[in-house]
Amino acid sequence: MPFGNTHNSLKMNYSAEQEYPDLSQHNNYMAKVLTPELYASLRDKETPSGFTLDDVIQTGIDNPGHPFIMTVGCVAGDEETYEVFQDLMDPVIEERHGGYKPSDIHKTDLNFENLQVNRPADASISVWFPLNHLTLVSRTFQGGDDLDPNYVLSSRVRTGRSIRGFCLPPHCSRGERRAIENLSIESLDVLDGELKGKYYALKNMTEEEQQQLIDDHFLFDKPVSPLLLASGMARDWPDGRGIWHNDNKSFLVWVNEEDHLRVISMEKGGNMREVFTRFCTGLTKIESLFKERGHEFMWNEHLGYVLTCPSNLGTGLRAGVHVKLPNLSKSDKFGEILTRLRLQKRGTGGVDTAAVGGVFDISNADRLGFSEVELVQMVVDGVNLLVDMEKSLEAGDTIDDMIPEQK
Ligand code: ADP
Ligand code: MG
Repeated sequence: MPFGNTHNSLKMNYSAEQEYPDLSQHNNYMAKVLTPELYASLRDKETPSGFTLDDVIQTGIDNPGHPFIMTVGCVAGDEETYEVFQDLMDPVIEERHGGYKPSDIHKTDLNFENLQVNRPADASISVWFPLNHLTLVSRTFQGGDDLDPNYVLSSRVRTGRSIRGFCLPPHCSRGERRAIENLSIESLDVLDGELKGKYYALKNMTEEEQQQLIDDHFLFDKPVSPLLLASGMARDWPDGRGIWHNDNKSFLVWVNEEDHLRVISMEKGGNMREVFTRFCTGLTKIESLFKERGHEFMWNEHLGYVLTCPSNLGTGLRAGVHVKLPNLSKSDKFGEILTRLRLQKRGTGGVDTAAVGGVFDISNADRLGFSEVELVQMVVDGVNLLVDMEKSLEAGDTIDDMIPEQK
């Protein structure tokens, strides 16, 4: 496992040129931004907890590119990383988040009631149900609850949260990691009703139990991702890691994987509104439970919620569906359509997997500069369009007149 050279004080005997990483084969945002001059100006800085430039960029040095997504190539070790290494982080954030400027302010909206219906007028958004012989009532879809379950196999919304005052996973100590685990168990144990659940520590699971949870898409993978390994996040595995979930596994919290907390709401089928509603309710409760215990989440008005990977800043939200698009995905316009809808595709086994059998994980590409509601709305509207296109192709029709404008 790669290991940082932070504590090698002899490296300062060498010039910045002698220490500058070889980025000639690289295609990630950090490699685009880092110049020998920038490296020279930042290499002797560190955050109050001791996170250095070499720690920030190691994952992007060891992972030149990724087969499916454009990676960021750097991580934060604590909340202050984004400030101390601002000269690197700001341009990386600007590149990754569509021109988001250092002076921009992020917006948060966790009110699920704000989801809208944006179906075209001829789509069946309003259905008449006969109540009795004399009365008809109209049921209007509320927005986000009408993804076609014949195509949309499952819906999911996740985000990360970091607890202020603790180092982030690339840099946290064993003691800090265990403290976060204990704090999480204490807080989550208070949840009740539909959210009532239990914590399962990785080290108390059998190999089979763990694999089953991974295969069923509930649990994070084993530390096999080179992105995770090279950033130092997999140190001491499985110590301090685990999953908390409610009884029917529709509300889950990952503890100490890539972020202190990953909060997930998911279920089978296409009712994204229900998934998002549970997500907002649960997340808001968790935030107040941590506050009651004297711990707030890392947040500021520029970066929104502060997380380990700069790609997740802002909302940290990834709303996605597993959706069957065997015809559309064969079209040479597929990539361009996704870009225009501001969506991203992955394989259904997670970020490091390729799609099989025409089933994709389609989710929002943005995290920062848009509110949670706006991002979920983009996914709902975009996926509805993708499914309509799939149906057209299935019927042997063209999709030429359905290609969307750039959002
Ligand atoms: P993230 O890190 O954004 O949570 P990953 O791509 O690493 O997502 O996937 C983590 C796990 O979540 C994987 O097992 C993946 O199959 C599962 N998953 C992601 N989206 C969905 C979805 N819409 N429905 C079911 N499972 C999903
Ligand atoms: Mg992941």
